[in-house]
Amino acid sequence: MPAAPPHHPPNTEPARVPQAATKQPPAAAAKLSGPARAMAKLGLKRDIDLALHLPMRYVDETRLRPIVSLRDGDTAQVQGTVLECRVETKSRRQLLVKMTDGSGGELLLRLLHFYPSNQKTLAEGQLVRVRGEVRAGFFGREMVHPEFRAVQPDTPLPQALTPVYPSSAQLPQAYLRKAVASGLARAPLHEVLPPQVVPAGLPTLRDAVHLLHHPPAQLGADTLEDHSHPAWQRLKFDELLAQQISQLQSRAARALLHAPALRPGDGPADATLFHRVLQALPFKLTGAQQRVVQEIATDLARPHPMNRLLQGDVGSGKTVVAALAAAITMGAGWQCALMAPTEILAEQHFRKLVQWLQPLGVQTAWLTGSRKGKARQQMVQQLASGEALLAVGTHAVISEDVVFARLGLAIVDEQHRFGVAQRLALREKLTAASIEPHLLMMSATPIPRTLAMSYYADLAVSTIDELPPGRTPIVTKVFADDKRAQVVQRIKQEVAQGRQVYWVCPLVETSEHLDLQNATATHAELTAELGGLAAGEVAQHTTPVTPTTSAGPAPSPGPAAPPAVGLLHGRMTAADKAAVMQQFTSGAMKLLVATTVIEVGVDVPNASLMVIEHAERFGLAQLHQLRGRVGRGAVASVCVLLYTGPLSATGKDRLKAMAQSNDGFEIARRDLEIRGPGEFMGARQSGDALLRFADLAADAALLQLARDRAPQLLREHPAAAAAHAARWLDSRADYLKA
Ligand code: ADP
Ligand code: MG
Repeated sequence: MPAAPPHHPPNTEPARVPQAATKQPPAAAAKLSGPARAMAKLGLKRDIDLALHLPMRYVDETRLRPIVSLRDGDTAQVQGTVLECRVETKSRRQLLVKMTDGSGGELLLRLLHFYPSNQKTLAEGQLVRVRGEVRAGFFGREMVHPEFRAVQPDTPLPQALTPVYPSSAQLPQAYLRKAVASGLARAPLHEVLPPQVVPAGLPTLRDAVHLLHHPPAQLGADTLEDHSHPAWQRLKFDELLAQQISQLQSRAARALLHAPALRPGDGPADATLFHRVLQALPFKLTGAQQRVVQEIATDLARPHPMNRLLQGDVGSGKTVVAALAAAITMGAGWQCALMAPTEILAEQHFRKLVQWLQPLGVQTAWLTGSRKGKARQQMVQQLASGEALLAVGTHAVISEDVVFARLGLAIVDEQHRFGVAQRLALREKLTAASIEPHLLMMSATPIPRTLAMSYYADLAVSTIDELPPGRTPIVTKVFADDKRAQVVQRIKQEVAQGRQVYWVCPLVETSEHLDLQNATATHAELTAELGGLAAGEVAQHTTPVTPTTSAGPAPSPGPAAPPAVGLLHGRMTAADKAAVMQQFTSGAMKLLVATTVIEVGVDVPNASLMVIEHAERFGLAQLHQLRGRVGRGAVASVCVLLYTGPLSATGKDRLKAMAQSNDGFEIARRDLEIRGPGEFMGARQSGDALLRFADLAADAALLQLARDRAPQLLREHPAAAAAHAARWLDSRADYLKA
C-alpha cells in the first residue's frame, strides 16, 4: 500500500459521524460491500475516478479556537479536557459533556443519540478535539452533536483543509475520504499532454488534483469553492479537451463507415420520386427550405453516414423537408424511418406524409406502442421484407422486433425529447446494420452556441431561418385572468367566422392528477359557456385527411355528431387521443381544451386563437412551442396569455418576452438568459453525466481553447490524445453518443 498523501495522513483522520460510524456492528465485513456498492454507483471504480472525485467544499480543521472567543453561530474547532460527562434523564435522555481549554471558557456538548463508546471517549479527564456550530444555550455556549475524537497533547493538526466530497446516503464521508486518499495515491496522474496544449499559467494535472483534494489552509475555501482557482481551470480544461477529442474521434470514425450514397435520379426503384413529390406539393419551398434540402441532399449523396440537425422555428416547415429527404432515400430504393416522441406528433407526420406520398404510390407503415397484434406484425413483416419503404411512429420504430431490410435514412423529430436510453437504443439500432444509415434530427429549439461547440461538435447543422410566406404574424396578448369573460366572447366570434380555437390548461407541476382534474373542469365550464356552438360543420379552410391505407392510424368511428368542445389530455388512450385530434383536424370540433400534450407538432392551419391559462406557470420555450400551434395558415392569429397575479420577476420577464417576440431563436436567447443553459436539449440528463467540472456558460473561454487545440493534438500526438480521452471518459463514453 503506498503511503497516504503527505498533507493528510489517514491516521489523523478525525472520526466523523461518530454516533453512527464508530459503532461497528459485528458483521462489519459483510457491511463493507454497502459503501463499496455506493461508490460504484457514483462511478468511482478506478483509481483515476477517485482521484477526479473532487471536493464540493472544505472544512477548516487546521486551527483551534480558544473557547472563550467563540460566538453564537460560529463553526469552530476547539480542543480541551472533559470536566464532566453525565447522562441526563430528566426531560429527554441525552449525554451532557462539559469541557474547558484553559482559555477561561467552558463549552457544553450535547448528544441526543449516543453509544457507550461515546461515553468512554468523552469520559472525565479525557483530552478531546471537537468541531461544530456554537449556539447560546441555557448554561452558556454549547454544541449539539459536534464531531469529536480523543487526542494526545501532541496530536498534530492537519496542514490542509479537510475535503467534503459529493456522496450519497449509503456512503459515509470518512469511508469515502479514505478511499479517495488511497485512490489518489495510486492514480496515474502523470502528464500526458504536451506542454503547448495546456493553457499558460495552469498547473500540472498532478499538482492541480492534489491541491484540490488537500488545499493549504491559507488558500481560503472561497476561490476553491467558486471553481475559479487555476487548479480548477486545469481540470475543466482537461475535461473539455477530452470531450472535444471524443467528438473529433467519432467524426473520424463516422467518415470510415459506409452508408448508401443516395442521389435523386439514380435509384433503381423510382428515380424521379423526389421531383414528383416536389411538384405535387401545394406550395413552393421557401428559400431557406431549398437551401437545407440542398445541404441534406449533398450529405445523402456521400457514401458516409450523415449526422445532421435540422433546426427551424415552429411552423417553419420542417416536415416537408423530412418528406423530401425521405423521397430521395426511397427513390434510391432504400427505406426511411421517421420517429417522433409522442403518438400525436407521429400521427401528424404520418398524415402529412401519406397525403404527399401515397398518391405517388409509396407504401407507409405506421408503428406506435399502441399498435399491437396482427396489424403490427404485418407491418413489421413488410419492413423486414423491404416491401414497405417508409415507417413512421414513436420509439416503437426502434423496438427490438423491428428490422429493416435496407434502412437508408432515420429521421428523428424533436430528438431531445427522447430519453438518453432511447437515443442510445436508436444509435445501436443504426450501428447494428451492416451498412450505416444516414441520420437527420429535427428540432424547433435552436442549440445555443456553447452546446453546439461541445456536446454537438460532431453534428452538422442546417437552419431554416424563414417562415413560409403569407403568414400573418401571431399577435400575443397578456391579460390578467379577470378578463376571462371577454376571452370567452372572443372565442365565440372566432368560431362564428369558421375558425378553431385551442384552450391550453395550466400545468400543475406537482400532480398529474390535478392537471387532469383541472382540464376536465375547464372543459365542462367551457362546454357550458359555449353550449350554443354548432358542431359538425367542416370549415372550408381545412383539407380533411383520412389515411386511406389500411396501415394508417384507425380513423375513429366516433359519435355521429362530434362535440363542438373537445378535451385532450395525457391520460387518454392513444386511440381516444387520435379520435379527438381527428375531429379537430377535420374542423368538426371548434374548441379543443387540452393539456400540454398538444405542445409539439400539432398542425391545424384553421386554428387561429390560442388561450393559455395560467401562462405564468409555463417555461418560455414551452410557451413558444404552444403558441406555434396557431398562425399556421393565412388568417391573422392571436395568442392570449392569461395569468394569475402576483407575478414573480421571472414570470413577468417570460410573458413580456412572449409578447415582444415571435422569433424562436430570440425566445431561446431570452430563455437562456432567464434560466441558464442547464436544461437545454436534454443536456440535463446527459450533461450531468458528461461535464462534471466545466460549466458551459461560465467556461466559454476554456471551451474555445479546448476546441482550438484538440484537432492539432489529435493530428500530432494521437497517442497522447487517446490516453487523455480514456482517462477522462471511460465509463461515461456511451453517453457522448446519445
Ligand atoms: P414545423 O417546422 O413546425 O414542423 P410544419 O412542417 O408542420 O412546421 O409546417 C407548418 C405548416 O406550414 C404546415 O401546414 C406546412 O404544410 C406548411 N408549409 C410548409 N412549408 C411551406 C411553404 N414553403 N409554403 C407554404 N406553406 C408551407
Ligand atoms: Mg414539426
